[in-house]
Formats: sequence, C-alpha cells, structure tokens
Amino acid sequence: MERFTDETALVTGAGSGIGRATARRLASEGANVVVSDIDEERGEDVVAAIEDDGGTATFVAADVADAEDVERLVEVAVDTYGSLDIAHNNAGILTGFEGVADIDEGDWEALIDVNLKGVWAGMKAQLPVMEEQGGGVIVNTASEAGLVGMGGLGNYVASKHGVVGLTKTAALEYAGRGVRVNAVAPGPTETNIQETMAGGSDPRELPFDTSAMSDVPMGRNADPEEMAGVVAFLCSDDASFVTGVTIPVDGGQAAD
Ligand code: NAD
Repeated sequence: MERFTDETALVTGAGSGIGRATARRLASEGANVVVSDIDEERGEDVVAAIEDDGGTATFVAADVADAEDVERLVEVAVDTYGSLDIAHNNAGILTGFEGVADIDEGDWEALIDVNLKGVWAGMKAQLPVMEEQGGGVIVNTASEAGLVGMGGLGNYVASKHGVVGLTKTAALEYAGRGVRVNAVAPGPTETNIQETMAGGSDPRELPFDTSAMSDVPMGRNADPEEMAGVVAFLCSDDASFVTGVTIPVDGGQAAD
C-alpha cells in the first residue's frame, strides 16, 4: 500500500519510539520524510533505516520547545522536498512521578514547553504553509493522559489535555481551509520515554492510586508500530472526513 507517494511528511521526536515507527511507516508508503529530533545520532539512525528499506528521508535537528527552531525546520522541509503535506507533532517528555503539590517549577515549565508549546509551535509553522499550498494533514501525539487524570503525572496530564484542546481548535479553524488536524492518544507503549524521567518518586510509594497509567484491558503494552498504523490512517485519504478527533490507541483504557 503506497498512500503517500511523493508527499512530504515531517515527524518530530522521530529518533525513537512512536515517532521512529511513524517515520518508517510513512516512508514505506511512499512519503519523503523529514526526520526531526534533538538527538542527532538517533535521528540519523532512523534515516539510515528508512534508506535501507528503499525509502527517502533526511534528518533535521530541531528543538520543538523553540518556536524559531520549528519555523526553520518547516522551511527546510519545504526547501528539501517542495511541499509539506503531512506533519506528525509527536516529540514529548516525562519529568517523573510527583503529586500536584510536589511538582518542581522547572519540571513544570520544561515539560509544558516540549509537550504543549512544542505542538503549538509545530502547528503555528505548518498551518500557513499547508493552507497556502492547498491542503495538508496534521496529527498530534496526545496520550491517554489527555483524556483522563492520572495520579503522579500532573504536568504531563495538563500538557496532553492541552494537546487535545489545541487539536480541536486548530481543526475548527482550518476545517474550511483544506487542513485536517487530529490526534492519537496512545496507551502504554514500549518506547524509551521512561528513560527520560528525571528522578521523581517511585509511583508505588505515592499516597494515591497511580494504576490509571498502567491498567490496560487488553493486558499488554503497545508496540510503537500500532501507533504508526493509526497515525498513517489519519494522514491518509481514508480519513478524508475526519478532523478534530483524538483517537485512543490504548487497548481499551479509555473505555474503562
Ligand atoms: P521516546 O522517548 O521513545 O521518543 C521521544 C523522542 O522525542 C526522543 O527521540 C527524544 O529525543 C525526542 N525529543 C524529546 N524532547 C525533544 C525536543 N525538545 N525537541 C525535539 N525532540 C525531542 O518516547 P515515545 O513514547 O515514542 O514518545 C512519543 C510521544 O508519545 C510523546 O509525545 C509521548 O508523550 C507520547 N506518548 C507515549 C506513550 C508511551 O507509553 N510510550 C504513551 C502516551 C503518549
């Protein structure tokens, strides 16, 4: 199946996990992929993997928390491949498990800057380009934590609820202007994100229930490829009448 032949796709946080899987999936379906991350080594590895599979990709380093850097990233994408048809605003971090009253101010700001401001900065740069060229598709990575509260993850939950709201708003603003905007809400997925946790408490020792983040009705964690498949669906013409939604990809968590 080659649904994205000759289209340009930009994926942030593409050096690892869900972004890596999406970049590879979009490339396998014909897209020219701009692989972006703050981690150059991991990003270049993903480009090499795509090229080994016969696809086309290039790495561009960018920090999504820096709106000017993201503006430059989008310019480079358009300069490199001639358009921007698909954007997956996916980069995100965790800063550790703490109750709302104990979150460090620096952790609050650092996480909101990447997870929420980063998605806004992406769309700020991408939407005008897509409108001007006559259309495009954006998929943001939210989380199960964008749909329900989760003890110990206050800054993360706030950022992901923000992504869901921003996705709906951008979708409404651009519904008549050729750009669809949706999100995925992954449940627990086998990636490196746990490694990015900067200390924090052991969730088992917190004085409240933290099971919402780990209880999955299907009884297992997801593979990143299971997120990539849904992102690719949302990017494709199969989803031509879908905008403003956040699709839970969570083994049944949102139904619980
Ligand atoms: P990951 O840690 O494997 O990958 C995240 C990537 O983002 C890394 O390559 C990292 O270098 C990059 N990154 C971090 N900060 C960045 C910045 N400022 N600018 C650019 N790139 C940056 O994690 P993942 O699980 O693949 O996470 C991808 C997205 O999925 C995140 O938004 C995360 O919140 C979300 N998510 C993950 C899970 C899960 O269980 N893995 C669940 C729900 C949502």
